[in-house]
Amino acid sequence: MKAAVVNEFNQKLEIKDVPIPELEHGEILVKIHSCGVCHTDLHAAHGDWPVKPKLPLIPGHEGVGVIEKVGEGVGSLKVGDRVGIPWLYSACGECEYCLSGRETLCLDQLNAGYSVDGGYAEYCKAPAAYTSKIPDSLSFDEVAPLFCAGVTTYKALKVSEAKPGDWVAIYGIGGLGHVAVQYAKAMGLNVIAVDVRDDKLQLAKELGADDVVNGMNSDPAEAIQDRLGGVQAAISVAVNAKAFEQAYHSVKRGGSLVVVGLPTGELPIPIFNTVLNGVTVKGSIVGTRKDLQECLNLAAQGKIKTMIETKELEDINEVFESMENGEINGRVVIKMAQ
Ligand code: NAD
Ligand code: ZN
Ligand code: ZN
Repeated sequence: MKAAVVNEFNQKLEIKDVPIPELEHGEILVKIHSCGVCHTDLHAAHGDWPVKPKLPLIPGHEGVGVIEKVGEGVGSLKVGDRVGIPWLYSACGECEYCLSGRETLCLDQLNAGYSVDGGYAEYCKAPAAYTSKIPDSLSFDEVAPLFCAGVTTYKALKVSEAKPGDWVAIYGIGGLGHVAVQYAKAMGLNVIAVDVRDDKLQLAKELGADDVVNGMNSDPAEAIQDRLGGVQAAISVAVNAKAFEQAYHSVKRGGSLVVVGLPTGELPIPIFNTVLNGVTVKGSIVGTRKDLQECLNLAAQGKIKTMIETKELEDINEVFESMENGEINGRVVIKMAQ
């Protein structure tokens, strides 16, 4: 099968022929139709984070398609079902985190397109129990980004505990941010969108943002404090550490910062302000299978529309370059099949 492979960090991906994966107990083989390109894939290919991915690696954790084969012991899914393979490729199912509905914290989890091969390929295998079925009304191309960008931002908004009528700031209107704006609106929140590019802010407005701020030449936190007296929650999905600091300072008393983006760098948190203002800082990592179902259901109700541009697998190196330059509006989806 054809796949895009990271052989070494900071090298171009190689399009090559690799064997179709063999199924083990409980696994399914998915003929990938489409796979979204997440900035995490770029971090993986660069080896940006303290925990490194396996090499060689087939990236991709927004792979969706049709089940071509089921392994022994698979009861819940059958050949022909439409499913997606998210970042949470598998978890142990038995630890304190798995047992308490926090499976994304499982220490024994595997991650698609990071610790195991993912969706930048004609086929991808996965444990049936951790894949999710795709609602009939959603096309493969439009649904692919929901398997990471969608579930991650939907979950981050839940974690923020913002209530209908509250203001939230979304920092970074890229693949994640453009769906974050829509999930926030679907949850009854008021949204102020922050980015460093006007085209992204224009998109945020089209997707329902109530207000926008460009953080390129001035401090967006000051603008947010001036205009709104601060927001109840700031969700940072930007790829620049400075944005996290600004997001922290956008929050009003009793509010929270949800840390989602994963640029390298530090987030300096002033002790005095955090204590006196009662600010909460929380990390949020993707979402559980239940979060994913909820996030897909909202999209199936027509409340979320992903902005996608489709590309071929052979275009992946150019796509990564455009992503690095911040030139992608919405999400690029690699189309593996028609
Ligand atoms: P993306 O490249 O599509 O979007 C990033 C956006 O950040 C762009 O719109 C860019 O213009 C904007 N940006 C850059 N500098 C900024 C600044 N100073 N202020 C405001 N905005 C700024 O990336 P993506 O796919 O949306 O991913 C975003 C980040 O989230 C990545 O670091 C990715 O690894 C991480 N991520 C985390 C999780 C999680 O579970 N926590 C899940 C998926 C992705
Ligand atoms: Zn992702
Ligand atoms: Zn576990």
